Amino acid sequence: LKLATAKTNDNNTVLYASLDGHRYVRVEEVAAKPGYGWLRGVTDVKALMERRDDATTLLAQALENIEVDHGTSLELLELGPPIGHPRVIMCIGRNYPLHVAEGKADMPDRPLLFSKFSNTLIGQNGVVPFPSITKELDYEGELALVIGKRASRISELNAFEYIGGYTIINDISARDLQELDLQWIRGKSLDGFAPIGPVVVTTDEIIDVNQLRIVTTVNGEVRQDALCEEMHFKIPQLLAFITEGITLEPGDIVATGTPAGVGLGFDPPRYLRPGDNVTVTIEPIGSLSSIIGDVLR
Ligand code: MG
Repeated sequence: LKLATAKTNDNNTVLYASLDGHRYVRVEEVAAKPGYGWLRGVTDVKALMERRDDATTLLAQALENIEVDHGTSLELLELGPPIGHPRVIMCIGRNYPLHVAEGKADMPDRPLLFSKFSNTLIGQNGVVPFPSITKELDYEGELALVIGKRASRISELNAFEYIGGYTIINDISARDLQELDLQWIRGKSLDGFAPIGPVVVTTDEIIDVNQLRIVTTVNGEVRQDALCEEMHFKIPQLLAFITEGITLEPGDIVATGTPAGVGLGFDPPRYLRPGDNVTVTIEPIGSLSSIIGDVLR
């Protein structure tokens, strides 16, 4: 199942779902059918996953079994973040050894956690604001997990059960602010610093998460190209580590770190400039594109 949220003319959000990956139908159409009233009022992926632990499975079954509209293609929708206001956007820093090396940093001996706020989230083809307080705007293509059910003190052995789906996040970073401040809040959480999407793909469609390939391009030039198997701390380790002391809830997001090839890693560094198009691709999730905005003064 693939899930997307789109903006309506009156600025509300509507959740869409697709089984074949091409035609998307409004979930509210399913909610109108007998037995699916529990879907009423669900407007994004978080709301869906909060309703019940098996929400995506039941929705997928519904779309296979009941008569719905012929649907619309993703390209015709104005996509927003699949989750507009997650409680938590947990991020992992320095999780790909070659990226740690390019940043001349030390490999952490346990997962390095930080977070971003929901003011950072923008959707497909969104414009990343470029405030003049930074001169070193950078990209980080990453696989993100969407938590599907409450996870507290979970074991590595069944960690995947708690994942509701996968999406793409671009962990936009202001390198100079990361360096200047004693921690990373400004460097990582300025407005619009987390393009996300285009869709959430449920776990049943991902056969082996280690074989997912992250490719990031800037104006068409490939900058990052790596398999998720290069992660140092694997997904089960990350979720077990986080939930030892922090409960994750449905709709929470976990960004799993970025591979080598960020702008910081080049000599001289190749930071983003106004008008640049950054696209992060992870199939079968798709391609997440963003435009870097003009410098705000
Ligand atoms: Mg990152």
